[in-house]
Amino acid sequence: MIRFWYVVLLMCVACTTETKTKTSLNPKPESTTPVVQPVILATDSNDIEQYWDITLGDQDFALTKKDGLEDFQDRLNDFFGEERLQQLLDSQTIAGIKVSDRVRLAFGEKEAENTEALHAIDGLIHEINHIEAEVLNYQASRYSFFDNPTEFQAVIAKNDSLNLQRIYFGAGDKGWPPRCRTMFSKIQEDLLKGWKVQFHLHNHFNPDSLDKLGVLAPSMTDIQFYRALKESISLPEARVTNGFHTIKVDSSLFHQLNSW
Ligand SMILES: [Zn+2]
Repeated sequence: MIRFWYVVLLMCVACTTETKTKTSLNPKPESTTPVVQPVILATDSNDIEQYWDITLGDQDFALTKKDGLEDFQDRLNDFFGEERLQQLLDSQTIAGIKVSDRVRLAFGEKEAENTEALHAIDGLIHEINHIEAEVLNYQASRYSFFDNPTEFQAVIAKNDSLNLQRIYFGAGDKGWPPRCRTMFSKIQEDLLKGWKVQFHLHNHFNPDSLDKLGVLAPSMTDIQFYRALKESISLPEARVTNGFHTIKVDSSLFHQLNSW
């Protein structure tokens, strides 16, 4: 049985790491790709739990025609200016930069330790990729990620014999995702039918006082949750994205990081 303490997800810390990447501000060309329709698992007010099936390896699918993620990136660019935004992004992606004092104060020493430990490891941070961007874009198109940021959680699985990838998704209208009991029950059923979990994905954001950009590291609550998912659905990897970059954390690290 999965234990759910995934309640406070706005717990993070600003960061450091090795690869320097550019902001992704190029406008998305008008897509003619058909939108993949979700299979609805549960709804409760504005909370939704659903999944999409896509062809394994498809890098051109669309979950919505709307451009919520692009709007967020553009709004941040307008708010900070391109140079300042790039500095902020660099501060999360250049090796050796320590968590700032104000972020350390906001989120606590143990969260800062986790962030610095992860950002000292090469190769964990990458520019947001297609599947991560599509999932965040879907939620950012429901609620503005700039004006009313919310958190989703997703689990990505694959089935080699069916040549499919399945994106399980749960989100509401709040700064933390719903517990997604139906979604996790469905995942456990699917594991018995040949599906294998690839990774968990959720997004981070920060309040205005912390420059809006979400920390690229799991919170201690996240780590606690990942440990449970490693037991319940054999979670091999967890990812956190802030709409520009994503960090991936192998399950072998879950027990080396601070948790509650
Ligand atoms: Zn989190």
